[in-house]
Amino acid sequence: MAQRGRPPVTEEALKARIDDYCARYDVAPNEKGVPPFPAGRRETRQHREWITLVKAHTRLRRRMGGLCRRCDNPAAPGGILCEEHESLAAPAIAPADSKASCFVCGDGVAGTAVQELQGDTRSTPELVHRGCADVIALAQRVGPELLDRVRQYLWPETSPRSRRRPLRR
Ligand SMILES: [Zn+2]
Ligand SMILES: [Zn+2]
Repeated sequence: MAQRGRPPVTEEALKARIDDYCARYDVAPNEKGVPPFPAGRRETRQHREWITLVKAHTRLRRRMGGLCRRCDNPAAPGGILCEEHESLAAPAIAPADSKASCFVCGDGVAGTAVQELQGDTRSTPELVHRGCADVIALAQRVGPELLDRVRQYLWPETSPRSRRRPLRR
């Protein structure tokens, strides 16, 4: 079987393969939807099939997005790590000669604590200051109207909403 250039496995196709495996070996998938590790059956055909299924399952979930870079748990919203790894991760310090700038505030990131953000799984991670990452996280939680409210609060004169208000009656 050619391993290269195959079309990516679909969720249904993988489900069917997992069901088939489970029926043949008389096991049930665990809560992640993959068959349990075939304990005591290392290096057997079953073990090899199990590895293939688990790898396909991980690849599929990674492709569908939202998997932690370091484990198979879901990544925190907007992040590339799960909450556990996110909290464990020491703030990365951008190199002192880094020319990159934070995509939130636009300032350079050289020598500062930064975090990688990934808007959608296909885009390349963006580098932002640690504090600036909080803005993203907050906006993600509250939704786009957060930005309108902040704009209205900080710059009422220039906000589109106040301009729409009649100046005199
Ligand atoms: Zn993780
Ligand atoms: Zn910033």
